[in-house]
Amino acid sequence: MAAAQTAAPSCRKKLYNCPMTSQDCIFCQIAAGMSPASIVYADERIAAFMDINQPVPYKTLIIPRAHVETIYDLSGEQAAWVMQAAVQIAQAIRAASNCDGLMLSQSNGAAAGQEVFHFHLHLWPRFWGDRLRISVPRSLTPRAELDRMASEIRARLDF
Ligand code: AMP
Ligand code: ZN
Repeated sequence: MAAAQTAAPSCRKKLYNCPMTSQDCIFCQIAAGMSPASIVYADERIAAFMDINQPVPYKTLIIPRAHVETIYDLSGEQAAWVMQAAVQIAQAIRAASNCDGLMLSQSNGAAAGQEVFHFHLHLWPRFWGDRLRISVPRSLTPRAELDRMASEIRARLDF
């Protein structure tokens, strides 16, 4: 009885946060070598592989090996491993693709467009004249409002 009472909330939380478990997570399967992938680099901490969709050529994803769903769950160490790999892999992508620029992106939550609920960093090589279009409306905001939002965020930082 006690077990059932404690299991329910954690189960609900899981369903709310993420529809996948690590067993049916495609990126866990790739990291385990159980699903096909074009691996760029892998070690015991992270893996990098080609995105199955290539809106721009050489688009690459980097993941921590551990099944971490979003940035909110990522440890500082995992974040560092992913970013250290990103620095190296960005240089290799530039050398391989001769790209003119390179963009990083990372989505958390369905509202942000996250489709695979295993943390991943996108590396997008950019080329003059490529067809990628990212529309960001301009919104110059008064300083008082910028300051208010900054202080709201600052008040919630705990480092
Ligand atoms: P996101 O929308 O940020 O969750 O991005 C998920 C990314 O994973 C997309 O760019 C997909 O093309 C990519 N993706 C999904 N399945 C695979 C797969 N099996 N191998 C490589 N990339 C994948
Ligand atoms: Zn996973």
